[in-house]
Order: sequence, then C-alpha cells, then structure tokens
Amino acid sequence: MNDRTVPPPARRVLVVGGVAGGASCAARLRRLDESCEIVVFDRGPYVSFANCGLPYFVGNVIADEKNLLVASPELFRDRFRIEIRTGTEAVAIDRERRRLTVRDVASDLTREEHYDALVLAPGASPVRPPLPGIDLDGVFAVRSIPDTRRIRAWIDDWGARRAVVIGGGFIGLEMAENLVHRGLQVTVLEKLDQVMPPLDPEMAGPVADHLRSKGVTLVLGDGLAAIESRGSALAVLTESGTVLDADLVILAIGVRPETGLAREAGLTIGPRGGIVVDARMRTEDPCVWAVGDVVEVHDVVTGQEVVLPLAGPANRQGRIAAASIAGRETNFRGVQATAVVGVMGMTAASTGASEKGLRRAGVTGFEKVYLHPGHHAGYYPGSMPIHLKLMFSVPDGRVLGAQAVGFEGVEKRIDVIAAAVQFGATVHDLAEMELSYAPQYGAAKDPVNLAGMIAANFLCGDMPLVPWESLGDGGACLLDVREPAEFAAGAIPGAINIPLSQLRADFARLPRDRQIDVYCGVGQRGYYAVRFLRQNGFDARNLSGGIATYRMRKAAGV
Ligand code: FAD
Repeated sequence: MNDRTVPPPARRVLVVGGVAGGASCAARLRRLDESCEIVVFDRGPYVSFANCGLPYFVGNVIADEKNLLVASPELFRDRFRIEIRTGTEAVAIDRERRRLTVRDVASDLTREEHYDALVLAPGASPVRPPLPGIDLDGVFAVRSIPDTRRIRAWIDDWGARRAVVIGGGFIGLEMAENLVHRGLQVTVLEKLDQVMPPLDPEMAGPVADHLRSKGVTLVLGDGLAAIESRGSALAVLTESGTVLDADLVILAIGVRPETGLAREAGLTIGPRGGIVVDARMRTEDPCVWAVGDVVEVHDVVTGQEVVLPLAGPANRQGRIAAASIAGRETNFRGVQATAVVGVMGMTAASTGASEKGLRRAGVTGFEKVYLHPGHHAGYYPGSMPIHLKLMFSVPDGRVLGAQAVGFEGVEKRIDVIAAAVQFGATVHDLAEMELSYAPQYGAAKDPVNLAGMIAANFLCGDMPLVPWESLGDGGACLLDVREPAEFAAGAIPGAINIPLSQLRADFARLPRDRQIDVYCGVGQRGYYAVRFLRQNGFDARNLSGGIATYRMRKAAGV
C-alpha cells in the first residue's frame, strides 16, 4: 500500500488511554488516514506524559513538571486534528451497538460515544495488595504526575527523612535512587532474595552491592505484611517480623493490566491476565484493538505469552494498531524483554531470556557463558568492567538472551545483542559483527564479539565448559592458572595452582586419568590453558567467567 491508495471511508475512532500506546496510535493513525475522526479519552489530567521520567521528578533531577509533558492536547488538536478529552473515564463498552460510555470525572456525568473502531490503551495499575495499612497517608504508588506531585509535597511538607520502598524491581530502584538524591535514608524491601527480579541472581548481585555502597539498606527475601501508623510516622511490618520505620512508603511491587473495561465487555483475557490480541493488536472483536501494558504478547524467545509493561513495545503496538485500523497489514513481531535501568551510576540491562526464564519455560538445550571485559580498551585510561552473561541454544548457537551490569557501555552491548536476538542471529554472527572501535569507546574485539567467540569456542569443542552446577564433581582436578599472588589472595576451595606461565614446564604433574577443571580470573587464561592441555591429551574444561563469576554466584547463593 502507498500514500496514493484511497483511504478507507471516514470513521470514528475512539482511543481509551492517551499515553504511550494510545497517543502513539492516535498520532500514527492521523498520518495514515486524514479522513477519520479520532478522539482520545484519558481519565487523568494529562495525555502523552513521560511515565518513565516520574521517578526523576520526585528526585528533582527533572525539576520542572512541564518537562514531563511530551505533547499537549492543543498540539494534538492543532497538529494532528485529534480531539483529546482528559478527565474523562471510559466506564463501559457496548460492543453490539458500538458505544463507549464515558464519565466526566469532575461532574460524574456519563454519556455514550459511538465508534467504528475502538482502541484500548489503559495501561497497567500498580499492585496494591490488600494488606493492613496499605491505604494509610504517606503510602504512595508511582504512576501519574499527580502521584509524584503528592510524593514531592509529602517530603517537603512533613520533612520526610526515611523512606521504605517496597519492591526491588526497576521502578523501586529508580525511586530509591531518587529518594536518596533528595537526602532521604532509603530501605528497599524485596520478597525475592535478589533485587532486579528479571535478572539472574548472580547478575543482580553487583547491583545490590552498589546500592549498599551508596547507603541504601536492602532487606531481601522478606515480604510486606502490614503498614502501621505510629504517631507522625509509619512502621512497615515485614513477614519475618522486622519493623522498618518510615516517614514515607513507596509501593513498587509490580503492575497489573487494567482489564476491567475489556473483561466486562466480554473480551478474552489470557492466562497472564492481559487482553488477548492477534499480531495486528486486534481483539476477537473486529472493531476493538488493544495495545500496551494491558495486552498479552508473544515472547519470541520462550514462545510463551507474557505481559511486558515497557514503553517501547507499547509505542510500537500503538503504531501497529493504527496501521491495522487504516487497512494496512503490519504485524507485531512479539517481544524479547529488552530493558535497562540506571541505579546510582550503575547500569543493568538485559534482552531476551534469562537463564531462570528459560528454565521456567521448560527450554532445554542451551548453554551460558560469562565474561568480564573492560568497556573499552584496557590501555586507555578509565576502563571499567562489564559483567556479561550470554545464553545461546546448543548446538545451533542461536542467541537467546544476555544480561550485563557495569558502569559504562552496558546498554550499548545489550542493544547490539537485542538486535541479534530479533534477527535470529547466532553466536557466530556475534563473533563476526563489525562494531565501531576507538580506544575510548570499545576494543578491537568488542565485548559483544568476545561473547560470541567464547560461545563459538564452546560449540566447536575447542573449549568445553565445566557446568557451574557440577564444578569439581566426579573427582575432577581443580586447576587455578592465575599467578601465585592472586591464588594466595583467594581461590576456589580444593584448587591447586599452576600459573599459565608455568604450565608448559609443569603440566606433567597433572593427572591424566581425571578431568581437569581449569579456572583463572575471568576465563581468558583458563581458555589458553585448556587449549594447551587438550592438545596434550588432557580432558580439560574451562570455568566460564573464572573466579569473578564464581564469586558472583557464591554471593548470590547459586
Ligand atoms: P500508560 O502509559 O500507563 O497509559 C495509560 C493511560 O490510560 C493512563 O494515563 C490512564 O490514566 C489511562 N486510563 C486507564 N484506564 C482508563 C479509562 N478507563 N478511561 C480513560 N483513561 C484510562 N518503561 C520503559 O520501557 N522504560 C522505563 O524507564 C520505564 N520507566 C517507568 C517508570 C514508571 C514510574 C512507570 C510507572 C512506568 C515506567 N515504564 C517504563 C513503563 C511504561 O511507562 C509503560 O510500559 C507504558 O507507559 C505503557 O503504555 P500504555 O499506553 O499501555 O499505558
């Protein structure tokens, strides 16, 4: 289809929810179809605001509230001829008569609006478990600009000094960072044993260490039981009986798709709790589309249906729904959960499946490698390590996912690998990728290339890996090939030390009738040792990521 194609007859398109998915759908639809009438309803006072910037408004990093407003109703009207009705909540859908009932929030008056096409983009609401004290003054969730305005006012008016953030996911950690920025003492309470639940535990460890080093108290492996009012302060009671004093509590325990409207209209809700849509974002009703946090989508790596509350997918889905309404045929490709979070100067990013996600989905036949390269050439000042984990399928080497944590260059590597996941690339493709390099930005062998090379070395049999779960099992000889000073400063229990530089002279000491499990600092010298030993008849295997990964996994209890 091209621009000269006659557009479909003028129609009335109603959009419920005017932020990421709804606003991008409306604006895209206008670019595709000048003839239709487009009306966007949002129950809040704004449309097209930057939810992702909200924590930074609390932290005063974004000082002016106006900067959170990406586009105004006037802009939608003047530039796109889109009518915006804020303060208007959609309360019912009559699919038979194609009528949407909307309620004016200020006056409580309702009226019916006819539609030819209806787009549902109501997003997801913060989970508020029905626990004692959850609705007390001073307990906040973060979803809208008014929410953040109330938090700012609470801090200022009551001189809040201590905050407890419930939930150690990305919104919780962003809130923790920003509350610290405002000078508060912050405790994060997280039910799991780790922060950043989408990451594998060993990859989340450095984030937790960094938070602690910045003065944030982490209470992990413990859940919220109740919140009590104690004089002018609050007390957060945990399931284990711990009491955390607070002047302010932030709930960041996840979000739930806002499916009430769709459910009552008889639209199908999937097992993950989101509206079921096809690849064009259309529900089973040919006149109703749904996009954003409210829908279930296909995870291209695990093959499962998921709800993934992220801004990128919501925006892309809005565009796809608009194309579908305008009669174009564009399919949503599915999601792969590419995400990044900044935590007090540290960056954690991931794409595709985590190891635990693969196991949960019942995926077998995959392997993982770890590496800890500098974010740029070591000879150029300021190189910082990136902890990187890559998952790939065996034997075909298809890239399944990656996670990275560090201070510089983390998201760049994950975005490159995200593209690889989307295009179905293999670890061999990663090894061969031509990526930009100058000393201050990367290395001639970029961390992405290295990850591919390490995985490819495993796949072609050059470098068998010791499965982390069975390190030293079956009477294997554990060989540390670092220098003696490194060995003396801490080694894996039971290891013997023959430095790589001595191995050619000393290898006769090693048993030929046992497996040799080799490790070094980060895996590189171990690889060299494995190559030498295997070419001399030993059954040698490398420990991916070396003692650096061993320590991360030990600290995480895996
Ligand atoms: P939303 O953007 O939530 O918009 C839904 C709108 O619909 C709301 O304005 C709501 O008021 C309105 N609405 C709901 N029901 C009705 C109704 N019945 N009638 C009328 N209006 C209704 N994602 C990232 O990828 N990166 C980030 O860094 C990031 N940071 C975030 C930080 C915070 C604090 C939050 C809350 C979210 C963050 N997200 C981030 C998630 C991202 O904002 C969402 O995934 C995205 O906004 C979802 O878009 P949506 O259109 O589905 O819903």
